[in-house]
Amino acid sequence: MGSLDTPFPECPQSNFKPLDPEEFRKQAHQTVDFIADYYKNIENYPVLSRVKPGHLLNRLPTTFPQDPEPLEEIFKDIQNTIIPSMTNWLSPNFFAYFPATVSTAGFLGEMLCTSFNSVGFNWLASPAATELESIVMDWLANLLNLPESFKFSGTGGGVIQGTTSEAILCTVVAARDQALEKVGRENIAKLVVYGSDQTHSTFGKACRIAGILPSNIRSIETSFDTEFSLDPVRVMHAMQADIASGLVPLYLCATVGTTSSTAVDPVNDLADVAERFGVWVHVDAAYAGSACICPEFRQYLHGVERADSVSMSPHKWLLTYLDCCCLWVKNPVLLVRGLSIDPEYLKNKPSESKSVVDYKDWQVGVGRRFRSLRLWLVLRNYGAGKLQAHIRSDVQMAKAFEALVDGDPRFEIVVPRQFALVCFRLNPAGRVDSVDELNRKLLDSVNSTGRLYMTHTVVGGVYLLRFAVGSTLTEMRHVDAAWELIKEKAGVLLGGI
Ligand SMILES: *Cc1c(COP(=O)(O)O)cnc(C)c1O
Repeated sequence: MGSLDTPFPECPQSNFKPLDPEEFRKQAHQTVDFIADYYKNIENYPVLSRVKPGHLLNRLPTTFPQDPEPLEEIFKDIQNTIIPSMTNWLSPNFFAYFPATVSTAGFLGEMLCTSFNSVGFNWLASPAATELESIVMDWLANLLNLPESFKFSGTGGGVIQGTTSEAILCTVVAARDQALEKVGRENIAKLVVYGSDQTHSTFGKACRIAGILPSNIRSIETSFDTEFSLDPVRVMHAMQADIASGLVPLYLCATVGTTSSTAVDPVNDLADVAERFGVWVHVDAAYAGSACICPEFRQYLHGVERADSVSMSPHKWLLTYLDCCCLWVKNPVLLVRGLSIDPEYLKNKPSESKSVVDYKDWQVGVGRRFRSLRLWLVLRNYGAGKLQAHIRSDVQMAKAFEALVDGDPRFEIVVPRQFALVCFRLNPAGRVDSVDELNRKLLDSVNSTGRLYMTHTVVGGVYLLRFAVGSTLTEMRHVDAAWELIKEKAGVLLGGI
């Protein structure tokens, strides 16, 4: 405990300059070289990290230094300790989850975003950050052929969120507050939300955070019959049953491209049902939304013009680096009503004139980054043509992988491919039991080589392997090599029976 008679330590005139422009130039160039080498050599690293929990704790000091350490020493640790303990998401042999795609333009945008460190909570704090975000959100809306009702040039608007979780949370709050104005704040326990058993788990989480009772979160069953898309008739029955028991249907989350198997919910038919009961419709197209920039995939968004909000994450398939989830709403006033704050220290003329967007009122937090630079760089530097070619090339590679699987009688495609995810499993003739176990073993033996990384899921009670094509550096040779490895390991497993 300090006491009054403890003197303050003598404070010498500090020569500490944490942002010396010339030092910055030198060290940032070195870092870019380091990153370029990482990208160049990434194929040599195991895709899935093989370290055991606690790995870093045993290898790095748990106390930090009193005196400065040279950058060279720190980079040595990154090279020798950090990178070997990573799961390398940017490896061309990464086929797990959904890819998190990147690009030079996206990186440059991120550099600029970080450099300016503009904290754009309201228009005045960063006019350029605010307006550029509105512009790129309209641009991307145009690329996706969204109606005017979602654009600033029309009556709606868009905002960049960190993740889909935040996009869903913000829209649930907007829908909730609108409903509670009608039925009374005390009736929050009556609000019911709807998704399918394939809806991303973040939906239930966002609803719980927003105060929806867990028992009022409906997870409607899907099956092989509809290829795991949500059946509007079931939704209607669920809503009717809830109304009959005195509850209030609030919000329906339709998914275009589910996480497990890229199933597409019929947005237009679901909107028919939702409209009857005055339910907010959100379209979650986190992954597949990027594909909808191609005219041949746009049909999957059919009916989106009838939704209240739609979100998709360019950080998945549109080369922008994390984090960038684009959310459009038809009625920004509802979003702002649910999320706005107005403390004295943020009051200013432009905001009071109501002629500007203050993005702090469109999201959970107050501070926000200049994320639109990334998207702007990507859209401008590549143009619609290159971005569409990028999507099509991934889909083409996935198609080719699907054909390889299809051509081997020991394997089967479990659900039809829609985008660049192939859902398959090993299911050799004559084996009816333990097929799940066989595939678990196959996945383990393939992933443990470090030569590729895939993940699994269970749909309709069937354990299957997910092969998601589209990591930025992936070429057809990587897909071919992956298939060779999968076949080889399957051969070993089957031979060993
Ligand atoms: C990946 C995914 C999410 C989570 O997305 P983030 O924006 O990365 O948080 C939500 N919904 C679907 C359908 C997804 O595929």
